[in-house]
Amino acid sequence: MLIQGRLLTDPASPPSPGWVRTEGGRIAEVGEGAPPRSERPDVGGPDAIISPAFVDAHLHIPQFDSVGCDGMPLLEWLHRVVFPAETWWGVGGHANITTGAIRRLVRQGTFAFAGYLTSHAEASRAAIGMLERSGLRCAVGRVAMDREAPEELTREDRWRASQRPTPSPVLEPHGFGRSGGSVASGGGAGGRVEASANPRFAIACSEELLAEIGWLARERPSLVVQTHLAESRDECARVRELFPDDAHYTGVYDRFGLLRARTILAHCCHLAPEEWALIAERGAVIAHCPGANVFLRAGLFDLNAARDHGVRIALGSDVAAGPDVAMPRVARAMIEVAKSRAMCVRDDAVVPTPAEAWEAITRGNADALGWADAGRIEPGASADLLALRVPETWRDENLIGRLLYNWDDSLIAARVLAGRIVDPDTI
Ligand SMILES: [Zn+2]
Repeated sequence: MLIQGRLLTDPASPPSPGWVRTEGGRIAEVGEGAPPRSERPDVGGPDAIISPAFVDAHLHIPQFDSVGCDGMPLLEWLHRVVFPAETWWGVGGHANITTGAIRRLVRQGTFAFAGYLTSHAEASRAAIGMLERSGLRCAVGRVAMDREAPEELTREDRWRASQRPTPSPVLEPHGFGRSGGSVASGGGAGGRVEASANPRFAIACSEELLAEIGWLARERPSLVVQTHLAESRDECARVRELFPDDAHYTGVYDRFGLLRARTILAHCCHLAPEEWALIAERGAVIAHCPGANVFLRAGLFDLNAARDHGVRIALGSDVAAGPDVAMPRVARAMIEVAKSRAMCVRDDAVVPTPAEAWEAITRGNADALGWADAGRIEPGASADLLALRVPETWRDENLIGRLLYNWDDSLIAARVLAGRIVDPDTI
């Protein structure tokens, strides 16, 4: 396939005319100027803007129909909105919700993500099959949780714990335990779905469950581990009650070996300096979810602390606490949260530029998730690309800011997923 347009290879520089040739789902060749031998492009044209598709570092597939239930703090919102939604998913809602989530992601140009399912192994297995067939790239897993939530959501982990010794249930939807522990790492049966272990958060996980996941994490250094950390103050207070002997919340995960390079810690709004230092030392990634933090009034993420401690940052929608599936809107929320901090907290608060925000939702997130061949326009990378159609007047030094602040999926003229043109209505 030949794609022509102005290539957004580096959002800090104006996109320059060029072309991309794809082969077997990957970018085979990138060239400057007009296509060779005046070939007609399959996608785009001289005026199109070609961007890498977006990468979302944190979302919950079962919550895609739960956006906008406003007015509650985190723990109440979990019990009144999320847990009922996830319970419904487990008794048959998963097929419709997963189809809708895949279509909304594709419509908004997100072709790769790290995310959560629910604690239901059977429904999670079905959803993983749907994700594999969709062609989306993801690190996704069943949620592990065995306490402080309804019976319907904690039952499976508590039942399996009572059956020990058995193979770990944590990765079961991906095949672990059924095939002698041969879970795919770096690519599942569909090639683009990667297994992850997802302890919901310390409140919902007993020490035994965290220890089991820690064991898995040590056995499989390439395994993605996803959890939540220090999102709200009430959550941090409950963790102190449940783990009184640990110095801090971050220390709980560290005690079980869960802080490592392929661990994604969502939120981190309320960390002490020693927690920042520990996360940096272990090389774990923080998924900053600005829209979700504002929606739940959980906190304003401290980009200065992240930069000062050298902590790796990714950017997540966190649907459904986050209201926006579209990553350009999440990128805009990151800038707005940072500006709020600059106005209300400290004059020298770091405020990302639009180019830095666009980089974060493409190459930056891909690198943070360990996908060196995603989120970029270069030979060898996955051919996950968007052809954008923008007004002629936008083609100036403010192009990226105009895209972020005017974002609408109608700006996407064509979507190329793994080298194929896809339609969000039929995928
Ligand atoms: Zn989340």
